[in-house]
Amino acid sequence: MNTQTKHISVRDLAEDIRRRHGLPQSSNVALLPDRHPQYRLCERHGRYPASRIYADGTVRYIMPADCPRCRHERHLATLLDRAAIPLRYQHCDLDNYQILYPAQQAVVDVCQRFATEFTKNQDGRGLILLGPPGTGKNHLAAAIAQKLLAQGQTVLQTTVWELIDRIRETWRREEGPSERAVIEAFAAVDLLILDEIGKQYGSDGERVSLFAVLDSRYRDCRPTILLSNETLAGLESTLGAATFDRLCHHGTLLQCPWPSYRRQGGQNHGA
Ligand SMILES: [Zn+2]
Repeated sequence: MNTQTKHISVRDLAEDIRRRHGLPQSSNVALLPDRHPQYRLCERHGRYPASRIYADGTVRYIMPADCPRCRHERHLATLLDRAAIPLRYQHCDLDNYQILYPAQQAVVDVCQRFATEFTKNQDGRGLILLGPPGTGKNHLAAAIAQKLLAQGQTVLQTTVWELIDRIRETWRREEGPSERAVIEAFAAVDLLILDEIGKQYGSDGERVSLFAVLDSRYRDCRPTILLSNETLAGLESTLGAATFDRLCHHGTLLQCPWPSYRRQGGQNHGA
């Protein structure tokens, strides 16, 4: 006899009984006298319910049986197929961010706190990172993203251009998700990181799309991280006074005025 017992799940057993008694396949009524509700374990999101007890005493397995938060992520990923952490920032970590100036330590500390206290951040305060290209803003944002992904949060890191392009695509096409669905998908991720917030927007329509995403996230208390090479005054003229006030008063402004890593021949630090 094989000493290695094959693992049989409660589901397999229930399925076996169903077959032997010729019960209908579509039925997801729990057949075993187990304790319910039962839970399954997602490697990324932890425990989630697998069965439910109804008022009349029937026990049913919840269908579909996979992790609901993983399913939610897959749904967002389909809507936002082109937005993800850019490959060149995927190794970024707060521990491998090179600190040469005291001001950088202060910024890293704020980023660290933002990531560790993310789930406690009930009013959705975001971060605004301002500074010239090459000061490691993307590195910091990607490091926060990695930490949150590890906590099971949904994160998107993308540029304003990609966001606008993704929305504009819905104007041209008849089939596919609607403009509203795409805006809602950008609004629904736990953390949105938007790079290249600058002066150079196209049409008013594009500006409206961006603000629809930012406003919706603000209303739902979901934090956004904005990255920009602009000065504070430049950012205000880009976003308009109302949005700027809302984001600045409701978020932490981090200035990154130190010299560019790239000019010093430093590596692994994006714009
Ligand atoms: Zn999951």
